Amino acid sequence: MMTPKEVLALCREREIRAVDLRFMDFPGTQKHFTIPVKALTEESFEVGFGFDGSSMYGWQAINESDMLVVPEAGTAFVDPFMNRTLCLFCNIQDPITREDYDKDPRNVARKAEKYMQSTGLADTANFGPEAEFFVFDSVRFDQNEHESYYHVDSVEGQWNRGKAESVPNAGYRIRYKEGYFPVPPADTLQDLRTEIMLILMECGVDVEAQHHEVATAGQCEIDMKYRPLLETADNILKYKYIAKNVAVQHGKTATFMPKPLWNDNGSGLHLHLSLWKEGESLFAGSGYGGLSDMAVYAMGGILKHAPALLAFCCPTTNSYKRLIPGFEAPINLTYSYRNRSAAIRIPVHSPNPNNKRFEFRCPDPSANPYLAMSAVLMAALDGIQNKIDPGAPLDKDIYDLAAEELDTVAKVPRSLNASLEALREDHAFLLKGDVFTEDVIDTWIWYKSTREIEALRQRPHPWEFTAYYDI
Ligand code: GLN
Ligand code: MG
Ligand code: MG
Ligand code: MG
Repeated sequence: MMTPKEVLALCREREIRAVDLRFMDFPGTQKHFTIPVKALTEESFEVGFGFDGSSMYGWQAINESDMLVVPEAGTAFVDPFMNRTLCLFCNIQDPITREDYDKDPRNVARKAEKYMQSTGLADTANFGPEAEFFVFDSVRFDQNEHESYYHVDSVEGQWNRGKAESVPNAGYRIRYKEGYFPVPPADTLQDLRTEIMLILMECGVDVEAQHHEVATAGQCEIDMKYRPLLETADNILKYKYIAKNVAVQHGKTATFMPKPLWNDNGSGLHLHLSLWKEGESLFAGSGYGGLSDMAVYAMGGILKHAPALLAFCCPTTNSYKRLIPGFEAPINLTYSYRNRSAAIRIPVHSPNPNNKRFEFRCPDPSANPYLAMSAVLMAALDGIQNKIDPGAPLDKDIYDLAAEELDTVAKVPRSLNASLEALREDHAFLLKGDVFTEDVIDTWIWYKSTREIEALRQRPHPWEFTAYYDI
């Protein structure tokens, strides 16, 4: 972890001229402003820099709009795209009380880690994220028009993206749901993903692998090594920033929306979770799937609170277009050793006990990673504290089960509205240690209900033209 002194030394060594101060707004968009390097001193890491918090969705009212960003030295990295620029992730503070701001997502994550440590159950929550995304040739769409979104190519039955006349003749393209692992030239994004992977590593993120994903040409996955909650959330910010900028440099565009293409796989943000103490995983044991009791109870907590959790883990209206049967997205609130059709999967190949973990497959990359991982951790801790039994595992392929048997399996909520309703009813587990406050929960529900659900509800949908135009 770099100290302020070391950050300043790095600035001199790399001839940095600008320092970019970054944070994440409440809904999950990265924000920044930039200072000349001479404005960054050792003191800056204490006193911070002022900005107007009233222009941030869900944050302060205009009469109390002055806020501080306080950079965290340990997050420094040299911007791989901009001219001699250093980036720092920042915490948000109230300039008068100097308290950390409750609605700063990064602060929620810091409090979640502190709360976990205060329980004595574990000192570290490691998260290994698998973020999937699509790279498209530049999508041109006009928010005020319905044409120019997606066009069906009548010859191949595939979707063309962008204006019909602007689509190049790509010849063979990967069929729906057949994008897993073909070599180039079918995989057209090999070099692009490698570039993202290498830049991530230059920026201090350890990468395990990159590959094309299952959906038709364009779905990517780059797996970062597990790290503690806060660092993983910071890493996901770097990941999105780098993926989007590399794509643009190649004349393409990267999107993390969970379900950009109808009838093909969507993009998930599977989270592999393990709790640790003094350098050892607490999740290895002799129970089901080689898990400890603690891990089993953690699964119980996540499954019990899953409908409410999805308000943070699958937080967009588009998220629920992903959570349907037939596309490797989980819809059944169960767990299983190796079975990918359950909401929680226990990966098989874990010879090393410190690799013992489970994978929560519901989250998608439209989530604010600080809030989503904090909520998952709080649900896991609640499960451990209350010894919540996750019930029996489901080891058959859930898609092959008879309808009556399937009906008995609890399901994910079918809409963002349903998840927000679940959160309204079930959020005491998030309030422990003041990790989430009532204000954070209320603001989240208000923001999502008005700006996203209602905004969509009022707009004619392209599909309605197909269904009703001729009526
Ligand atoms: N894309 C799938 C999802 O939506 C996951 C596919 C996979 O990683 N096996 O979660
Ligand atoms: Mg994967
Ligand atoms: Mg995947
Ligand atoms: Mg996975």
